[in-house]
Amino acid sequence: MSKRTRKQKDLTRLAHAGREPSRQHGFVNTPIYRGSTVIFPTLACLEAEDQDYSYGRLGTPTIRALEEAIAELDGGYRTRLTPSGLSAIAAALIAFVAAGDEILVSDSVYRPTRRFCDDVLKRLGVTTTYYDPLIGGAIETLITKKTRIVFAESPGSQTFEVQDVPALAKAAHDAGAVMILDNTWATPLYFKPFAHGADVSIQAATKYLVGHADAMLGVVTATEQAFPALYRTHEQLGLCPGPEDVYLGLRGLRSLGVRLERHQKSGLELARWLAERPEVARVIHPALPTDPGHALWRRDFTGASGLFSIVLKPVAQAKLAAMLDGLGLFGMGYSWGGFESLILPFDPRAYRTATKWQAEGPALRLHVGLEDVEDLKADLAAGFARLAS
Ligand SMILES: *Cc1c(COP(=O)(O)O)cnc(C)c1O
Repeated sequence: MSKRTRKQKDLTRLAHAGREPSRQHGFVNTPIYRGSTVIFPTLACLEAEDQDYSYGRLGTPTIRALEEAIAELDGGYRTRLTPSGLSAIAAALIAFVAAGDEILVSDSVYRPTRRFCDDVLKRLGVTTTYYDPLIGGAIETLITKKTRIVFAESPGSQTFEVQDVPALAKAAHDAGAVMILDNTWATPLYFKPFAHGADVSIQAATKYLVGHADAMLGVVTATEQAFPALYRTHEQLGLCPGPEDVYLGLRGLRSLGVRLERHQKSGLELARWLAERPEVARVIHPALPTDPGHALWRRDFTGASGLFSIVLKPVAQAKLAAMLDGLGLFGMGYSWGGFESLILPFDPRAYRTATKWQAEGPALRLHVGLEDVEDLKADLAAGFARLAS
């Protein structure tokens, strides 16, 4: 990346990071390298492992291109790609623990992260304690001599509590523990994980980075100090994503900035509109001044993506079904971050342990896509009419 510097702005990085036309016969994009076997020209080279690539599972130029770009955007040392966001989380957690250790995980965490802790890590002899996502620096009261990881996800999945990542990181570091952050919601464009004290930052690239609902991909970046442990575990677990999906990650990267801007703008407009609706008890969106997490969000984030939640006033399940089943633009589905709008009911009461989720009525998570926002309002307004009928 000879003509580029570490000082460039993110939008410039999105356009230029991870590609070098002069190495690709002048073609703009790094192509899809497919491959398992890599040939060594001489015995000396083979024995010294003296070439950039040695085996398909350990990386290809396509993989390295996206890794370089993400490391730059995150502001971390190095990045590794995995076949999904969840496998990035699993690798990061396993990298820093051994039997007998304890980890602290936010109660607001993505549910499959929780399942991994409660099942795999438990069987390996690692104890997980869930903490109130709003605990901040008081997390030090939960830290013991055996604590190895503080894991945060900010804002939290479904419920969007904004976490005080710098305070959590300080408490973790004072105890010699590693701060791991799931930064999927904000992406490094709107939250710089390492500037706020993270040692390891994860994104489900499946969401905004790929951005088109057509691939599964995870990314995990670490500081220079944390990278060796992550690198070893990632390599030993054999976590190599498919070449096509990596390319779709690179493709998505180029337009991430403009897509997020639109997701943010339409999301906020819809959030404000929803806050005025008589059917809505409250809107949970950190960029709204009325949100309990707004002050922290303003302090640490530079933007908001298009995912937020609302709580409806109490309503019969059949009415809710009539509202949701009849929507024409909002689809019901899990993996957000694509160009299309989504809506999904959720109820965290079944699995939260450190905090109690209290809601006036049914809760819905919305992903606001790239459609015209007036059309989205009309779709929801018709849904509210069915809800009331
Ligand atoms: C979707 C998601 C993941 C998991 O990503 P996959 O690619 O689906 O495995 C992890 N964290 C958060 C916050 C997510 O929303």
